[in-house]
Amino acid sequence: MPDESLLKNIFGLNLSELESLFIAESIEKFRAKQVFKWIYTKSVRTFEEMTDLSAKMQAELSSKFKIGSLSLIERQVSSDGTKKYLFSLSDGNLVESVLMCFSDRDSLTACISSQIGCAVKCPFCSTGTLGFRKNLSSDEIIEQIQFIQNLEKLRVSNIVFMGQGEPLNNYDSVIKATRDLGSLIGIGARHITISTSGVVPQIEKLAEEDLQVTLALSLHDAENEGRDYLVPINTKWKIAELMQSMKNYVKKTNRRVTIEYVLLRGLNDSNEKAIALGKLCADLHCHINLIPYNQSCSDSEFQRPSNNRIHYFSMLVKQYSKGKTVIVRKEKGHDIKAACGQLESSYRT
Ligand code: SAH
Ligand code: SF4
Repeated sequence: MPDESLLKNIFGLNLSELESLFIAESIEKFRAKQVFKWIYTKSVRTFEEMTDLSAKMQAELSSKFKIGSLSLIERQVSSDGTKKYLFSLSDGNLVESVLMCFSDRDSLTACISSQIGCAVKCPFCSTGTLGFRKNLSSDEIIEQIQFIQNLEKLRVSNIVFMGQGEPLNNYDSVIKATRDLGSLIGIGARHITISTSGVVPQIEKLAEEDLQVTLALSLHDAENEGRDYLVPINTKWKIAELMQSMKNYVKKTNRRVTIEYVLLRGLNDSNEKAIALGKLCADLHCHINLIPYNQSCSDSEFQRPSNNRIHYFSMLVKQYSKGKTVIVRKEKGHDIKAACGQLESSYRT
């Protein structure tokens, strides 16, 4: 067995880069196309599985190259079918991804991470408590999908950047990954959602990208005072400026955006807060997703509201937002800590 660390990782190279590499290694150029197809269309991760290559060619490629830099540390399956994956990067950092299936649709949604930790430090989010460690490369982002497709022998249909990290704080890699997911893996921008805490300059930039992604904003409080605490990036870009950038995004892209709102008992779940949220969203082309808080540890100072409160809150939001669609998001994978905000890579290094 060759020493893995000495092998060149070919995951993420585009076809012409792979062809040049093969030519430099005296491997016939047309092999690159074959290998490329196996990696991205069939999600294969070893040369032995590439059955249209001779055993000799498989051995030669295996002695020189490897496909990808992630390794799977753990795979957990929830009673509702949600799966959570803990991957190790080549530098030993750990990252989590989640695969969700919904009983009312055939599609499979993967929730992927864009950073290790996060600098925004929302007090209720496990990733936030880690602080910022590092940005993932675009290859590490798309490899999460390729790895999941390989493991589960299925195709992911939708992607949400709702795992660990603030995607717009890792802008270039997230945009490259979004484009590559379309061209390499076949998942178009319309099937990708980028969720952000509200990095205003990057929202403006995203609006100019000519990408049809869905933008989701984690609002969590419609008033600056409360939002300064719940989403500390709000101390930099206030709600008025943020909403202006969301409206601009809608105007430039013609896409409906999503407003996310984590419901926290006693903090942002009052009638007044619901009315403020409804009014703020009334003139924005959006859906509103209410996410009852998911507890990640037993001594958490935060709690979800009662079901009655959630129901009444959502009714008020609908009324004051001029009839916007308001969805209370069902949590998935709670028993394996795979729900929103619970990803923390429990094996902290
Ligand atoms: N950083 C981005 C994307 C990752 S978080 C963002 O904040 O939008 C994805 C969503 O999960 C965000 O709306 C976030 O606020 C929410 N979230 C975080 N912790 C949560 C928790 N414990 N319960 C419910 N939702 C949570
Ligand atoms: Fe970062 Fe999003 Fe968690 Fe806030 S909710 S700390 S922005 S990952």
